[in-house]
Amino acid sequence: MPSTRGLSADTIRALETIPGQYLILSPDLHIITASEQFLHSAGTTREAITGKYIFDAFPANPAASNADGVRNIAASLQEVIHTRKPHYMSVQRYDVPDAAHPGKFLMRYWNPSHTPVLDDDGELLYIIQKAVNVTEKVLIEAALAQSKAQELQTLAHVEALNYELAGSNAELKESREALLGLYLDLEHRVDERTHELAESKERYKSLIAFSPVPKKVLTGKNLVLETVNEAMLKLLGQNSDIVGKPILEIFPEFAGQPIVEACKHVYRTGKPFNSNEVYLNLSRDGYIQDCYLNISCRAIYEGSKIFGVLCTAIDVTEQVKSRLALQQSELRFRQALESGDMGAWSINIETMKLTVSDIGRKIFGFDPNGELTLDDNIAAMEPDYRQPLINNLNNAIEKHESSDVEYPITQLQTGERRWIRATGKLFFDSTGKAVEYSGMMSDVTERKLNDQRKNDFIGMASHELKTPLTSLNAYLQMLQAKAIKAEDAFTANALDKATNQVKKMTTLINGFLNVSRLESGKIYINHQRFDMAALVKEVEDEARVMVNTHRIIFAPVEETIVVADRDKIGQVINNFISNAVKYSPLSSTVHVACTAENGMACVSVRDAGFGISAEDQAKLFERYYRVESQQTQTIAGFGIGLYLCAEIIHRHDGKIWVDSEQGQGSTFYFSIPLAS
Ligand code: ADP
Repeated sequence: MPSTRGLSADTIRALETIPGQYLILSPDLHIITASEQFLHSAGTTREAITGKYIFDAFPANPAASNADGVRNIAASLQEVIHTRKPHYMSVQRYDVPDAAHPGKFLMRYWNPSHTPVLDDDGELLYIIQKAVNVTEKVLIEAALAQSKAQELQTLAHVEALNYELAGSNAELKESREALLGLYLDLEHRVDERTHELAESKERYKSLIAFSPVPKKVLTGKNLVLETVNEAMLKLLGQNSDIVGKPILEIFPEFAGQPIVEACKHVYRTGKPFNSNEVYLNLSRDGYIQDCYLNISCRAIYEGSKIFGVLCTAIDVTEQVKSRLALQQSELRFRQALESGDMGAWSINIETMKLTVSDIGRKIFGFDPNGELTLDDNIAAMEPDYRQPLINNLNNAIEKHESSDVEYPITQLQTGERRWIRATGKLFFDSTGKAVEYSGMMSDVTERKLNDQRKNDFIGMASHELKTPLTSLNAYLQMLQAKAIKAEDAFTANALDKATNQVKKMTTLINGFLNVSRLESGKIYINHQRFDMAALVKEVEDEARVMVNTHRIIFAPVEETIVVADRDKIGQVINNFISNAVKYSPLSSTVHVACTAENGMACVSVRDAGFGISAEDQAKLFERYYRVESQQTQTIAGFGIGLYLCAEIIHRHDGKIWVDSEQGQGSTFYFSIPLAS
């Protein structure tokens, strides 16, 4: 029996009956007694446990391996024994043996505390273990927690499920709608198809009728014209009377033409026929015409049986004919080139590669098949002409201008000196980019030699004429002096007129001489510094004496200092004025102006004459060019004045031009750079 020191029987009795769950232990941890409520909670009797070592009376449940209640209570008791102080514990699982099933345990949770009871000396008398059975509470709490967790889990699951459900609901709705759409569509198509089938014949007939493209339907073996639209009737040159007749009855001229066979083949095999530019003899507008048609024929079925042929035709006669005409004219052009001994040349702007036709190569004496470069061409030219021609070409390409040049070459095969005339023009691609500079070339040696001979003759004749004219002029001067002295007014006047004519002749002969000098490169520019205003003034003085048929106004005449050939520039001004007088009505006014503008000295001569057409203006400065019109045919001239003017002005790096309109008079201009 455990020690019951300090415990009276009454105390024990009191402890056994007090409300609450108590176990009274001796200092060596044997059970002294237990309260009624404890015994009830632990499911045991006082007799069964009294006197027993606590852990024998309540051993650990071997099945609850994770319950550490026994160990914790033992530790708590040891602490109380040592410290003599109460010790409170948290909830502990401490299963109790099941009296009804020996060897089995009942699950129990306790909220234990140990309180030491000491004697006056502080010695431990006994320990009161208060063990409140909280099994139910713990289990309820655990169950509650579990159900909460479960609830949460369920909630999450439900939520996920809901989400999924919403998704599949939408999908479901969508597919239901799609299905419905499909169903309606199908139903509609079935309806349509049924309708189509029912009306197919009418339909294609109206489709054909309203088509702007010529169409017709031929049925049966004999190709009877079943349907035809307006466009096809127009193409065939027929009216609707032809409907219902076999094609060969309508167009007997089709017999033997391949198109009929093609239609029959489509009718027999169902294979479509497509062909462009089919040649056809067609009688329309009362006579048989050549036609070119783009034709397409396909079979038309009734069920699985071919019942006709749908023919579509587009009239391309005009296009084909103009293409053929173009081809023919190209051919003729090529033939003309060949017979005219004209060569073609072309320079690729990007690569500067030169292409020369066979005849061109023959003219130069190039290898008929070898590669050619621009340098080969330049090397064949005479050295003095090379740089000016390169400049001319570059200028023409840069300014998009046409060129027309003549230059001598050394023929590579024969070593002969030949003259070449080459014309050129810039060509562009569809984007407007310059791609090619090309043109024609021909050997103009014969003409050049003839010109040369003519020039030589003119030069020689002019030269020979100059000497007698000079003497004639001298004699006339002498005679005039004499007549004046003798106061013979008639003779003096006649001699004055004769002197004027001799002057005119001298000017003309000088012109010819200048041309021949120019042609042989013997014209020299004698540069000197002078004021053009002073030169114009001199011309004015001279004109006042010489011209009495017109009014000439010299204004404005501004100071314009230039470095140029004074005589030759004077010759140009004189030429402009004499032309203005020559080609405008008597008594009309001529305006002469001399101004300085943008670094150039500019002289202009304006008349109220016949005017010049744009076409003539372009050629006016060419040698021997004269405008052929009723008004000019009675006016003498050789067409060399303006040519000489242009040559002189170009040799001064100047510009010469005309501004004129027929019937509105003309203004001739030239400008040369002002002296710096
Ligand atoms: P020419 O006067 O000797 O024929 P030009 O070379 O001076 O030669 O002139 C060439 C042509 O230009 C003339 O034949 C004439 O038809 C035309 N022409 C020149 N000047 C004028 C002018 N002021 N008005 C109308 N036509 C002119």
